[in-house]
Amino acid sequence: MDVSLAFQLSPTICNIIDSNDKFPVRRILCVGANYVAHAIEMGRDPSREPPFFFAKPTDAIVNADRVLDAIIPYPPQTSNFHYEMEMVVAIGKNAQNIEVEEAPNVIWGYGAGIDLTRRDLQKAAKDKGRPWELGKGFDNSAIISSLCPVSKIGHPEDSRIWLTVNDTIKQDSNIDKLIWSVPEMISILSKTMTLKPGDIIYTGTPEGVGPISKGDKICGGVDGIGEISITIS
Ligand code: MN
Repeated sequence: MDVSLAFQLSPTICNIIDSNDKFPVRRILCVGANYVAHAIEMGRDPSREPPFFFAKPTDAIVNADRVLDAIIPYPPQTSNFHYEMEMVVAIGKNAQNIEVEEAPNVIWGYGAGIDLTRRDLQKAAKDKGRPWELGKGFDNSAIISSLCPVSKIGHPEDSRIWLTVNDTIKQDSNIDKLIWSVPEMISILSKTMTLKPGDIIYTGTPEGVGPISKGDKICGGVDGIGEISITIS
């Protein structure tokens, strides 16, 4: 992909596995309630209703992996700070109004991410029918592993997704349980906006989300794709 323009526009980058190259981040898009058991734990109807999306500011990105343990400050204005382990998709080509069958062609690679959430602020906004911005789009809220290019790993459809807090397993599922598949999400998004190189999509979290506190060490990953380690300070 031609990253030069995106690189000029965005100071935010993701590491790439086994490479000194960097992936410039243009936009961060996230899908909500994309695993049945998580939709149920959030009190939602888990049926296959159309997916919904939200965004985080690009500068919320924090690069972390198994050896690069990132220190994340406990954010202000919350007493219910949650982890959400997710697979992340990195877009490498323009996508406008494309069909599901074409969608894999615009994917540059995959990573593992944590969608950090101020659950109390999100719920307060949700209850009033207001935007979730302050619950989701705050400093350091988008943790991401080094990215793996499609040229190395293809398009994974069956990988364990897991997360531990202080070595206790909290989330343990498989990306084959996604309600809306990655190509379906890309196709739907591409009919609403133009996806461009540098866009990344957090694909939703499985069940088992919960609160974290100062001093907690969180590890997580999507097997064969990426692994993350962070400590809350
Ligand atoms: Mn999420």
